[in-house]
Amino acid sequence: MTTGEFRIRFWGVRGSIATCSADICRYGGETISMEVTCGKRTLVFDVGSGGRRLGNDLTARGISDVDVFISHYHYDHVEGLPFFHPLYREECKIRIHSGHGTDKTTTCSLVRGFIAPPYFPICPDMFRADWTCHDMKVGAQHDIGDGITINTFALNHPGCATGYRIGYGGRSIAIVTDNEHVIGKTDEALGKFIAGADLVVYDAMFTDLELPSYVGFGHSTWEEGARLCDAFKAGKLALIHHRPLRTDSELDALNAEAGARRPGTFFARQGQEIIIA
Ligand SMILES: [Zn+2]
Ligand SMILES: [Zn+2]
Repeated sequence: MTTGEFRIRFWGVRGSIATCSADICRYGGETISMEVTCGKRTLVFDVGSGGRRLGNDLTARGISDVDVFISHYHYDHVEGLPFFHPLYREECKIRIHSGHGTDKTTTCSLVRGFIAPPYFPICPDMFRADWTCHDMKVGAQHDIGDGITINTFALNHPGCATGYRIGYGGRSIAIVTDNEHVIGKTDEALGKFIAGADLVVYDAMFTDLELPSYVGFGHSTWEEGARLCDAFKAGKLALIHHRPLRTDSELDALNAEAGARRPGTFFARQGQEIIIA
């Protein structure tokens, strides 16, 4: 089968909370949201505050069919969902997927749970799009049509999070956020999950030096991302979930260090686009 373009654009790369100040403008202060294009299909991974502008842009481009994948329901990954413009357009078809469902919680109950008074003035019944919720079996591969496969992985994060690996046209992007590694121990299962991916997007909230002070916070380091990509022969490594307080100059320094240690490794910037094929 012939395949179309495969690319990713970062609409939000900041972790934990949206930030805004003159010294963070280049990397950006919006929280996690990524757009993955697979030919004619549009996939969205997390809808943090960066998802608001992404939604506006999809509307401007007239895109009306979107699959949204949520890694987990911490605010920095979903706070843009009630502001995601395609949800308010009648002509849109939006499928919201997550692997977070248990016997008691489903994608639908989680979405309805946080977009509701007293947390938010409106509820999803006011969305005008044709929107549906889908629970993914974590650990399984899901075929979403048009030659796109989505593999899922249970990450190590308080309350759980789902890692996604998108396969299209023989290429792949793995998205691993949020995830904490055990210091000094290679996560073999996660390594197999990202093995050989053309691009790995990885949680780099902390550095190896900082992590011992933040055990249990649920995050990893750029150094661990590099070690994992080296050990399991992955391609490029894009680091995201930047600490709210990291300035552009601090991120520049980390970016230079990471790129020197492992060519093809970079701290992602809001608005950056990577073409895979
Ligand atoms: Zn997060
Ligand atoms: Zn989280």
